[in-house]
Amino acid sequence: MKRFSPGERIEVREVWNGRAWEIRRPIVVEDAPDVIAVYNAPGSPIRVAAGPDGKRLRLPPPKWSMADASIPSDRRILGLHPPGSDHSVHVVWDESWRLLYWYINLEQDRRRNPRGFDYEEYVLDLVVQPDMASWRWKDEDELAEAVERGLFTPEQAASFRAEGERAIEWLLARRPPYDRPWEDWRPPSDWP
Ligand SMILES: [Mg+2]
Repeated sequence: MKRFSPGERIEVREVWNGRAWEIRRPIVVEDAPDVIAVYNAPGSPIRVAAGPDGKRLRLPPPKWSMADASIPSDRRILGLHPPGSDHSVHVVWDESWRLLYWYINLEQDRRRNPRGFDYEEYVLDLVVQPDMASWRWKDEDELAEAVERGLFTPEQAASFRAEGERAIEWLLARRPPYDRPWEDWRPPSDWP
């Protein structure tokens, strides 16, 4: 399947059991063998899973509907996914490009389609300080709840954690594609 061009708007879908759970429409920064990089601008419209009260859901119930939402107006997010891995690294700035943190989202290797990519979320995440001096796990309780509810097996949960350990080591060592100064990335001036 064809690679996407820089500046092209694509659809990135998080799916649960084949159904859309969150849909974002980022702009492609780079679509290369070693990294898929996409940019989510502040306030970009997204679609999220919502319950009967219209509120955004955390873990999937048997049924859900989709609701309009947006990327927070004070967040700029550059997503980096090394194909073949089960994680993405998000570089997160505020609206004035102050680096806030790095975020490792554990997720299934992305599947390419004509419109963009699909992936499944692994719930557990890691948050890394801007200078990478320290980091912490995030949403361990949510993953435990997901296992309790039978959404994942304990073995899967252990494999997500192992991927998290692999990813944090990879990022902190700044091995490719994390060897590039992604924190200095800015959108080209000819982007809308
Ligand atoms: Mg996550």
